[in-house]
Parts: sequence; C-alpha cells; structure tokens
Amino acid sequence: MLRGLFLSLSRNRTLRQFMETSRYAAGLTSRFIAGNTLEAGMAVCRQLSGRGILTALDHLGENVATEAEAAAASGEIVQALQAIERAGTQATVAIKLTQFGLDLGDEVCRRNLRPVFAQARQMGTRVEIDMESTAYTERTLAIVKQMHAEFGCVRAVLQAYLYRTETDVAELNRLGVPIRLCKGAYQEPADLAFPAKADVDTNFVKLMETLLREGTQPAIASHDERILVRALAYARELKLDPERYEFQMLYGIRRQWQQRLVEEGQRVRLYVPYGKAWYPYFMRRLAERPANVVFLATNLLEN
Ligand SMILES: Cc1cc2nc3c(=O)[nH]c(=O)nc-3n(C[C@H](O)[C@H](O)[C@H](O)COP(=O)(O)OP(=O)(O)OC[C@H]3O[C@@H](n4cnc5c(N)ncnc54)[C@H](O)[C@@H]3O)c2cc1C
Repeated sequence: MLRGLFLSLSRNRTLRQFMETSRYAAGLTSRFIAGNTLEAGMAVCRQLSGRGILTALDHLGENVATEAEAAAASGEIVQALQAIERAGTQATVAIKLTQFGLDLGDEVCRRNLRPVFAQARQMGTRVEIDMESTAYTERTLAIVKQMHAEFGCVRAVLQAYLYRTETDVAELNRLGVPIRLCKGAYQEPADLAFPAKADVDTNFVKLMETLLREGTQPAIASHDERILVRALAYARELKLDPERYEFQMLYGIRRQWQQRLVEEGQRVRLYVPYGKAWYPYFMRRLAERPANVVFLATNLLEN
C-alpha cells in the first residue's frame, strides 16, 4: 500500500516543485543523490573509481515539456561525457528518453540522442537507456534497436516484473544488444506486470540465468541478496569470466555488498544520479523501501 502511495506522489507536480526548491533538499537526498551539479557527480565517480567500482552517471530529469528542455538535457549529457573523458574514469552515462523529448515525438528524441551517442562512441563508452513506465516500453525498445544499429554503444534496460520481458530478452540477445536487468520501479497494472513480488523475483532469476548463458555483457541490477548469491553461483557453474557480465547497484544502497563483490573480483557498477530534478527518482527509492522514510527523518533531525 505504501509503495503505491509513494509512486502516486512521485507524479505530483506541485509537490515536486515544492520539494525540489526546499532548503532541506540536500539534507533529505544526500543518501541517494550525489549532489546538484556535474562536479558533485564526478567527485563521487572518482571516489568510487578509487575503490575499484565502475559508474553510470545519471543527470536526473524526466518527462520534459518543451523542445528547448530536451535539447538542453542532451547538451548536459554531452558535457557529462566530456567530464568523464577528462577524468579518465570508466563511466557510462544513464539517460531516460522522456528527458530527451519522447513525449514530444520520437523524432525530437532521436535528434537529441545522436550527439550523445556520437560522443560516447568516440570515447569507447556506452549510453544506458533506462526503462520507464509501460507507456513508453515499445517506443523505447524501438529507439534502443535503432541506436544499436547506428552507433552500437547502447545498453537497454528490461524489467523482470513485465510479462513481455522474456520475449524482449530473447529478441535483444539475438541482436547482440547488452541488457541491464532490473525488477521494475513503476506502478503497473496486473494485465502487464506480475502483481506478486515473489513472482517478480522468480522471473528475475529465470531471465538472469538466460542472460548469463546467452546475453551480451549483461548487467544484473539488484540489491536482493538471494539474487546476488544465485548470480555468483550460476556464473561459477558456467565458468564465466567476470569480464563478461557485471553487477549494478544504486548509489547509497547495499554498500557492504558492493565492496564484497569487488573483493571477489567481480565487476560492479554504481548508478550515480546528480542534478536538481531529483524528486521522482527519490520517491521511487522510498517506494522500494518505505522504511527509508524513518532513516531520512532521523537524519534530517540530526542535521
Ligand atoms: C543500477 C540500477 C538501475 C536501475 N534502473 C532501472 C530502470 O531503468 N527502470 C526501472 O524501472 N527500475 C530500475 N531500477 C530499480 C529496480 O527496478 C528496483 O526497483 C530496485 O532495484 C529494487 O529492487 P531490488 O532488485 O534491489 O530488490 P528488492 O527485493 O526490492 O530489494 C532487496 C533488498 O535491497 C535493499 N533495497 C532495495 N531497494 C532499496 C532502497 N530504495 N533503499 C534501501 N534499500 C533498498 C533492501 O535491503 C531490500 O530488502 C534500477 C536498479 C538498479 C540497481
């Protein structure tokens, strides 16, 4: 019930405006968000790099309303890529297509994506296209396939809570598109997504095993201990070289596991968000674990 409440609040524009301009914002968000600026995001990437952790830098933003905002988002990500190149860190960038103007049309979105992909390809890194709600799944995958054909340096994201994902995994594996597998963070109807968490978890394990066997550089994106243990055991069973897959986690979550995996010689990449448009991302993190509210409230009072 609380999950649903946080997810519906995450779409409330008035609350978003209020929260993102609040003077308490930084105190509230610092556990999950690197800071407001690219410099803050890069500082976290450099620090993680020193601990042997790879990163996916995410300039926060989604559902922009004008072409000017979409073009500005594209420019920001090109700058982020240039900062990554200057720092010499092994980082990808993670983006959302609604940040690039998907609500304004596929062509607007593709136009804004091309400079980002051109920059990433020239640097030998990758653009990870996050998956948003099912309102966008089909169009997102069409654009992923097109960027894969034009530039090659894309990673798709698929969500284990959707019934369709098994088919999408097979199709993207056939095309050689790298996939980040996650459980899924949006509110979806029962005719599109498994309503019970136990079924989502079972489907995740099944798809993860397919990806480890047949995928191209798959990323296992989860903080679920049972999933991490199973992934390690299955990769060992298959005698997979750890260079052929990676674990991904979100900044601020399960720090001990991040370190443990690195010490075991596994590739670990942290998703590092930065920027002022933090509210929807932050509310999805509360929805995943409502107990975070208690933790954040204590932090705020202490500060
Ligand atoms: C790198 C990365 C990228 C992602 N990209 C996308 C995307 O593009 N699209 C999308 O829909 N979703 C995305 N997600 C979110 C994902 O779909 C899940 O909502 C989220 O990861 C929680 O699922 P879980 O696998 O960690 O398992 P869960 O079963 O939800 O959690 C397992 C355990 O992990 C810890 N944990 C999980 N979430 C939190 C939290 N917020 N705060 C504190 N502890 C927590 C808790 O200890 C919990 O018991 C991404 C997740 C990761 C790690």
